[in-house]
Amino acid sequence: MERSPIVIAGGGVAGLSAALGLARAGRSSLVLERAQEFGEVGAGLQLAPNATRILRAFGALDFLDAQAVAPEHVRIRRGRDGADLARLPLRDAEKRWGAPYLNVHRADLLSALLELARENSLIEIRNDATLTGFVQDEQGVAVTYRSADETRRASGAALIGADGVRSLVRARLHDALTDKPSYTGHTAWRAVIPAKKLPPRFSAPASNLWLGDKAHLVHYPLRAGAIVNIVALVEDEWRGAGAEARDESARFWDQAGNRGFLLDRFAHWSQEARDLLSAPESWLRWPLFDRPPIDSYARGRTALIGDAAHPMLPYLAQGAAQAIEDAGALALAFLEFGQKDPGRALAQYSAARLPRASRIQQASRDQGRIYHLAGAPAVARDLVLRLTPAVGLLARQNWIYSA
Ligand SMILES: Cc1cc2nc3c(=O)[nH]c(=O)nc-3n(C[C@H](O)[C@H](O)[C@H](O)COP(=O)(O)OP(=O)(O)OC[C@H]3O[C@@H](n4cnc5c(N)ncnc54)[C@H](O)[C@@H]3O)c2cc1C
Repeated sequence: MERSPIVIAGGGVAGLSAALGLARAGRSSLVLERAQEFGEVGAGLQLAPNATRILRAFGALDFLDAQAVAPEHVRIRRGRDGADLARLPLRDAEKRWGAPYLNVHRADLLSALLELARENSLIEIRNDATLTGFVQDEQGVAVTYRSADETRRASGAALIGADGVRSLVRARLHDALTDKPSYTGHTAWRAVIPAKKLPPRFSAPASNLWLGDKAHLVHYPLRAGAIVNIVALVEDEWRGAGAEARDESARFWDQAGNRGFLLDRFAHWSQEARDLLSAPESWLRWPLFDRPPIDSYARGRTALIGDAAHPMLPYLAQGAAQAIEDAGALALAFLEFGQKDPGRALAQYSAARLPRASRIQQASRDQGRIYHLAGAPAVARDLVLRLTPAVGLLARQNWIYSA
């Protein structure tokens, strides 16, 4: 019977959720997180019912309740003039999909997961611990990591790479020449501002989506309406301008963005949208990176989860939700096979998750194309949004939210 821990590289949403899932299956884990400490990192996340259902099973929803906002609807508007295109009710998400739709700050989600993990004796978390390498055989894995400027070692029954889109674990498992993150030509500009800087309507419990030519805008309140999360997604002007320009853009990962540039980009949008974009004093730019789907998330005693396995454009708001689904599937696989054969559990996890996560990766890209249409195709899209009953539009999400 296997008793050594599962080593998890990365303590983001994927890594902490995986540790909680494994604990539910009776497996201990060692989480190695390179950050010195967990902090107020990131911005808003929309958590769809397919994610909150699993968070509820992990006991995390109780921790989130006070901080989360349940949007009453998604309001879709035309960027150019603010015209209403559709309003999709989310009030009855629980009835429709069996779990709530919640908007949360990523830091609040991480705190909830962390609190549960810290009080669970099966989970050990080490900060300032950067995975630097690993070897695996049929018995398990041996990993090396950097901590306090020293190289340290640990061993486990298996290794889970939850180390994000630039995953070291993935680079070691796959051909690093052909399988690498590539810049999509899309950039997310993110800001979180106090709600008092905006008219009160921006604090109303709703998710708001504005569609425009090669760009869209999302905003919603967080923390009981105290702050507002704003994301402007744009296709960059230098898109397709060659590898050099792409590398140049990549250097600005998570860097302060120039507000003037953003306002120029939205010059032809409605005054209301432009007023909103003028409100934050500073923005963070996130060039969006993608990786092609792979044919397996597991190899021997090593597996990938979250963005390391299936990074996706944020256009269906499913990246973190899919990481949480991974954790649910890992828990089930380890319940079934984990005590005797962790390698089989990882293969089972991969088989269970790969078709769905790959489909959602592709659907996210397709959604981006629809959001960013221009000219006649945009007019046709807007007509469909206006004429289709809201229940019909909502039903298109059933395959994602009901899982
Ligand atoms: C603009 C934008 C909006 C989004 N909106 C939504 C949304 O509304 N809903 C949603 O569900 N998703 C959304 N997402 C996606 C979501 O943020 C990600 O999919 C999710 O955070 C991925 O979590 P992860 O744990 O896999 O990766 P990460 O969050 O990248 O975490 C990886 C962790 O691993 C650590 N790490 C990395 N390398 C090492 C190493 N070598 N050793 C040890 N630790 C390491 C990192 O420090 C980090 O803590 C959005 C993304 C963007 C960019």
